[in-house]
Amino acid sequence: METKLNGNPCLLCPNNCGVDRAVRTGACGSTDRVKIAKFYLHPFEEPCISGKNGSGTVFFCGCPLRCVFCQNYEVSNNLTGKQISVKELADIFRTLEQMGAENINLVNPTHFVLQIAEAFSIYKPNIPVVYNTHGYEKISTLELANGFTDVYLPDLKYFSPRAAKRYTGKEDYFSVASEAVKFMIKSRKTQIIDGMMKSGVIVRHLILPLNTDDSIDIVNWFAQNKGDAFFSLMGQYTPFGKIDDFKELQRKITRREYNKVYTALLDAGIENYFVQELSSASEEFIPHWDF
Ligand code: SF4
Repeated sequence: METKLNGNPCLLCPNNCGVDRAVRTGACGSTDRVKIAKFYLHPFEEPCISGKNGSGTVFFCGCPLRCVFCQNYEVSNNLTGKQISVKELADIFRTLEQMGAENINLVNPTHFVLQIAEAFSIYKPNIPVVYNTHGYEKISTLELANGFTDVYLPDLKYFSPRAAKRYTGKEDYFSVASEAVKFMIKSRKTQIIDGMMKSGVIVRHLILPLNTDDSIDIVNWFAQNKGDAFFSLMGQYTPFGKIDDFKELQRKITRREYNKVYTALLDAGIENYFVQELSSASEEFIPHWDF
């Protein structure tokens, strides 16, 4: 794969738009200029990611996947944010490290992977780098990310083509994301030192209302493919985004739905896991954007 955009057609994600991002945007809504919504020390990731000081998180604008209920809707749809240069991105990495960040946490990095690699060539902090993704990734792009990533933090959002099509329009989500997760698990062995993940993979899954069968299929798939990776079961779904036409998404999940998936996780024999309590399902936990 061409490793510079430089007027080349963008084929970084499975949307394969083939556009020249110097002159127009593709399905991710992004040009070739890096755009971010916020950077800060994030206290609410998994404990081995946030640690004592917080995870040095950078939220990138735009998104190749765009789920209708996105909890970061304004960011993924480019309604907020600030354009920065690659040099400024490198400076942000340095600033986060100086603030005491436990790691650099790149949220939704796929469509800026080339600029991120360039920023790390300018300044690479001496802390782990976390690649925090929706999971809709091409292996060729992950091979580029592998050059700077220590910890992969992918979502596995939907198992059935029905759910993926309904919420993203991308029926092939699971077939693409499951291969991406297998690649990540093969690429990074788990290493945890003093409670902090220095290397490894944590696969996240957010339970959606009326979708527990899909969640259980994800849990069972993970149990068969987990290697030494961790699973993170998330119960914090909060109605948000463009969901007027999605009646089932207009409530939080119930205790019964949560328990059903949690029980499946235990029954599947998954021992390395994190769970997020239902009490964290609140807009309070959605960040406020800076730009
Ligand atoms: S990164 Fe953006 S422009 Fe490139 S293929 Fe994906 S959606 Fe299209």
